Amino acid sequence: MHYDIVIVGGGAGGLELAARLGRKLGRRRGAEKVLLIDRTVFHIWKPTLHEVAAGTLDTHQEGLSYPLLARRNHFSFTLGELSALDPAARRLTLAVMADEQGRELAPERSITFTHLVLAIGGGANLFGTPGAEKARLLENTADAERFHTRLLTAFTRASFAADRSLAIAIVGGGATGVELSAELIEAHNEFLGGLAKDQRFRLDVTILEAAERILGQLPEKISTQAQTALERKGVKVLTGAKVQSVEDDRVVTLLGDIPASIIVWAAGVKAADSNTTLGLETNRLNQFLANDRLETSAPDIWAMGDCAAAPWTEGRTIPARAAAAHQQADYLARVLTARLAERRHEAPFRYRDFGSLVSLGESRGVGSLMGGLGGPNFFIEGLIAKWIYMSLHLAHHRAILGTTKTVVLALARLLQERVSGRLKLH
Ligand SMILES: Cc1cc2nc3c(=O)[nH]c(=O)nc-3n(C[C@H](O)[C@H](O)[C@H](O)COP(=O)(O)OP(=O)(O)OC[C@H]3O[C@@H](n4cnc5c(N)ncnc54)[C@H](O)[C@@H]3O)c2cc1C
Repeated sequence: MHYDIVIVGGGAGGLELAARLGRKLGRRRGAEKVLLIDRTVFHIWKPTLHEVAAGTLDTHQEGLSYPLLARRNHFSFTLGELSALDPAARRLTLAVMADEQGRELAPERSITFTHLVLAIGGGANLFGTPGAEKARLLENTADAERFHTRLLTAFTRASFAADRSLAIAIVGGGATGVELSAELIEAHNEFLGGLAKDQRFRLDVTILEAAERILGQLPEKISTQAQTALERKGVKVLTGAKVQSVEDDRVVTLLGDIPASIIVWAAGVKAADSNTTLGLETNRLNQFLANDRLETSAPDIWAMGDCAAAPWTEGRTIPARAAAAHQQADYLARVLTARLAERRHEAPFRYRDFGSLVSLGESRGVGSLMGGLGGPNFFIEGLIAKWIYMSLHLAHHRAILGTTKTVVLALARLLQERVSGRLKLH
């Protein structure tokens, strides 16, 4: 099978790119020329995984199936997991896929391409910490759903336990850890709401951060505000708590042992080890090295999003953020449209940092907005910060569904919450 443009990874960046290209090329040409490959059948925007984990977002309501998105946006889709790449022959291999019983679902396949975009994302960085693999990760929908099931079981167990308490430790005080902790507190409050008096239990959520402050990538004022808001909600924040090892029932840190029934690893970003076997140059985080046009070390192969290390400013690389993947999708859509018309799009990619926002639960956010690269930095918090935070999610839906369907979906979600409550308890 051959396609002019093959995109591997239908996440925050790859799916938007496929949708933009498909719509630009139109119904017939788009489906003929653009192929999106993903190892899952439906798409969830990754920054909402902590909500899935806490049960405040339902995957069945939120998830969008790739074949449906492909039909609506005029590209082709195939289920598959990239396992090998021959950059010189412009050929990639998709591994055999099996169902839950281990029976073959899809055979190994070869696909050739003229242009290839790698958008396969990344995961957490365990930093070689002993026992870290025992902790729960939030790398994909399956992780988040498993976490949710475990959480509900733990809630029920705690409500009948002698000490009526549950301890959860989150390793990493970055955006993921902070947002998850706030979401867990809200899930607990909703859960307790209707519970019999003698079944109410205490939830202890502790964030363990090795650095001197949480949200180290953001201005200090935001770290302080976020920590105060979390502590008000009842979250315990331990900074300078470098994790030495993870045991089944506790985390061993420089500050001592933290007992926990559920341990979540939400620290660092690292791409898949298998990225180093694909014949492209990679860095120590297994990200594909890319230049300021997002081109990798092989001709006509680009990398975007969390799996790419592309230059930004002051020797740093573009951060692993949904906003960066969103802008890169827009840029590569222009580059590849020009390529199909046998033109070159000369301008390099410029990442514009509009600031960062962190959600602290249903009605509160905190963050900073920037006028532009190096421009003035505005501090923002409360409901407005939360709304701007949500607008990134809406921008993603708009890129793959269009404005009308995005509005309908947002309204449907709001109404559903009014009827069934915010927390998914089953
Ligand atoms: C809980 C959480 C909260 C976050 N919150 C924020 C936030 O508030 N703001 C923000 O800017 N960023 C946030 N992020 C980071 C953001 O989600 C990522 O930066 C963004 O999703 C990166 O987009 P991507 O397209 O590179 O990869 P992803 O969105 O991770 O998509 C990668 C896709 O590739 C597929 N894939 C992977 N390997 C293969 C393979 N071998 N073969 C085929 N398909 C493959 C996966 O199934 C997936 O669909 C958060 C992340 C998490 C986990």
